[in-house]
Amino acid sequence: MNIPETGLPRIVVIGGGFAGISFIKQLRKQKVQIVLFDRHNYHTFQPLLYQVSTAGLEPDSIAYPLRKIFRRNIDFHFRLAEVENINTENNTIETSIGSLKYDYLVLATGTRTNFFGNESIAENSMPMKTVPQALNIRSLILQNIEKADITPDEVERKRLLNFVIAGAGPTGVELAGALAEFRKGILENDYPSLDEDEMHVHLIEGQDRVLPPMSEKVSKKAQHFLEKLGVQVHLKTLISDFDGETVTTKDGKKFHTATFIWAAGVTGAPVKGINGEALVEKANRYSVDQFNKVNGFENIYALGDIALMKSEKYPKGHPQVAQPAIQQGENLGKNFKKILKGDKLEPFKYFDKGTMATVGRNKAVVDIGKMHFGGAFAWFLWMFVHLWFLVGFRNRVITFFNWTYSYINYDRAARLIIRPYKKKSPSLHKEEEAAVSSSVEA
Ligand SMILES: Cc1cc2nc3c(=O)[nH]c(=O)nc-3n(C[C@H](O)[C@H](O)[C@H](O)COP(=O)(O)OP(=O)(O)OC[C@H]3O[C@@H](n4cnc5c(N)ncnc54)[C@H](O)[C@@H]3O)c2cc1C
Repeated sequence: MNIPETGLPRIVVIGGGFAGISFIKQLRKQKVQIVLFDRHNYHTFQPLLYQVSTAGLEPDSIAYPLRKIFRRNIDFHFRLAEVENINTENNTIETSIGSLKYDYLVLATGTRTNFFGNESIAENSMPMKTVPQALNIRSLILQNIEKADITPDEVERKRLLNFVIAGAGPTGVELAGALAEFRKGILENDYPSLDEDEMHVHLIEGQDRVLPPMSEKVSKKAQHFLEKLGVQVHLKTLISDFDGETVTTKDGKKFHTATFIWAAGVTGAPVKGINGEALVEKANRYSVDQFNKVNGFENIYALGDIALMKSEKYPKGHPQVAQPAIQQGENLGKNFKKILKGDKLEPFKYFDKGTMATVGRNKAVVDIGKMHFGGAFAWFLWMFVHLWFLVGFRNRVITFFNWTYSYINYDRAARLIIRPYKKKSPSLHKEEEAAVSSSVEA
């Protein structure tokens, strides 16, 4: 694989997401060799994927080249590859470009879409976990609206303009709000022959409220915002099937649609080779101690979404969101400096900075400690926080410019069908499709 032997301890990191990059940043000036593997050559800012799907931002505003982030690290090596297996007997990983020995291994592979074992939903719905998938959704939405514009048959036109989203967590809520704004701002102006009232956005949720992980107060507020924008919210509704034409629910409802977006859950994305007590199969997450060390191993660590660290406050592990991933990466990076010096290690303590979700212009909701609020201030706060955490100065500037432009013009500027969506796009990774076999409830 052409990685030089420098005599320094080799730390192999799998995954350049929030956890992987915050870990490596800590070790910039340390006497270690770092080899990072990712199947993409960029870091993805997943919280803004929905903006790519709904033509609010270009994909390159939310992605950043991994090599560029670490260009100042001394003994750092990036390899674009799929990690396929871990051989813990001889401390080796096997990848699509060959195998490599490690002294320490850090697993930061995140999650993949969970279809709860439903093959037809996996086959026919649109997941949104990666930039290529977000671009698929963008193309499909725009293609369906274009088709609707030339379809004289009323039933088919309504199906093309019927958008159905499964899951009212932050992703589903944000997608639904953005699509409803699309109808308001774009359909009327750019498609004068289409009737705005023929376009529908349905948000389907199994639980009894939207944004189930957030407080009841903001959940009610978010539902109010959604309904004000014209989103049809269906609570306590479980989806049983989607055959490519019709979404069927367990209570017998039917939604005829050409765009069904699956935002109903994720499950861990472990790599083959570590099983037994180290892998909690129900959650597909590695069981770790309070130093993020994988149970049963002395030199393997797991971080972020893939790590399951149980504590009194978090008996099912930390929520699978960005902050635990960033903070665990930082803590393990600092602990590695201590390992190199032989100092005592610090256990991980999660500092919950709060949760937020946006529904649309001037409509966001925020939970911070005992404060629960929604509206314009929450929306500005949401924008500030997302700009702050975006990787790369250029991305922050471009995103800020785009948002300001859209705010003034009620526009979504990236309405381009660059690569038309065809069913079974090769851009879907085998791994993402393989999640079909998972059995975890989110
Ligand atoms: C649509 C969406 C919206 C979200 N919105 C929010 C939000 O608003 N706020 C929030 O806090 N969190 C949000 N999250 C969750 C947040 O993005 C995750 O919690 C966070 O990304 C976890 O970081 P991570 O480093 O553990 O994993 P990830 O960021 O997922 O990174 C994992 C990396 O590992 C790579 N990888 C995985 N397996 C392999 C392999 N076998 N070989 C090579 N490379 C591999 C992947 O390509 C990826 O780059 C959202 C997630 C999604 C999908």
